[in-house]
Amino acid sequence: MLINGKTQLIGIFGHPISHTLSPTLHNSAYKHLKLNYVYVPLDIIEKDLEKALEALRIYNFAGINVTIPYKEKVIPYLDGLDPLAEKIGACNTIVNTNGRLIGYNTDAVGIIASLHHDAHIDLTGKHVCLIGAGGSAKAIAHALIDENIGQLSIINRSRDHATALIDDLKQHVLIPYETATLENTSYKDLLTSAHIVIQSTPVGMSPLDTTSPLTDWSWVSSNHLCYDIIYKPRKTVFLKEAEAHGAQILNGLGMLARQGAAAFELFTKEQAPIDLMMKEVLQQ
Ligand code: NAP
Repeated sequence: MLINGKTQLIGIFGHPISHTLSPTLHNSAYKHLKLNYVYVPLDIIEKDLEKALEALRIYNFAGINVTIPYKEKVIPYLDGLDPLAEKIGACNTIVNTNGRLIGYNTDAVGIIASLHHDAHIDLTGKHVCLIGAGGSAKAIAHALIDENIGQLSIINRSRDHATALIDDLKQHVLIPYETATLENTSYKDLLTSAHIVIQSTPVGMSPLDTTSPLTDWSWVSSNHLCYDIIYKPRKTVFLKEAEAHGAQILNGLGMLARQGAAAFELFTKEQAPIDLMMKEVLQQ
């Protein structure tokens, strides 16, 4: 990679950050298209977040991605949010335009593009069960209701967080919403009737990589698509059990590549080489 006096910086804020695949994903795309950008990981501790965002203007970064635990915490320091990020209340992409920092959410675009292109699913009218009600679940839930799904059920450890997310969703689109907790396998009937089950908690990723949020698998059938947004490990306990019980399965690599492609286009204003970006994440 050639770095010269005209090279523009792009990066990712998070803490910890060493696990991220985003630098590989973006730098391979710049190299392929001969674009003069370099993408760097930036491990930012929370007390430095405001100063780090201010430094983006000083160093004239083209933009940054934002990951755990800052997707909501960056918002007060931005100059604006695009309507989707504002609706979701979380931002994973910040574009610096002449010193103005504008936040976007490409996780939402990423999951929908992955369901369409990796799973070849038409979401219209489908019953989707979402496990989790955290940061990524918010983006996924808003994206799904914008795709005209028929029903959304949220299964979460704490009912309060699931109910709060549904109260927010109801202000935008009215469809049947249900909640269940992970306790006493109260989720079983919802999962049985779902077409698509999306696992969006960190349970299944290190250090919780030998476990799953669900304990009952009697609901799984070959009619289900089970999608885990975790991509490390490639097959979480949730995906292993779903596959063993006959479901179609997908991990989070497709979402990762596709949210990255959407961010790439916001940063560079160039069309993302999505096939190359998918190949790149699959090789990791
Ligand atoms: P998060 O906001 O911290 O997730 C919180 C959610 O997980 C809440 O619903 C929480 O339940 C639940 N949870 C946490 N620990 C739990 C446990 N021990 N048992 C049961 N439920 C538990 O995290 P996030 O930002 O949404 O990210 C979640 C995962 O998605 C991470 O592994 C991340 O790497 C991955 N991710 C992947 C992509 C991609 O492109 N593929 C994009 C974004 C995120 P309560 O409400 O009860 O607290």
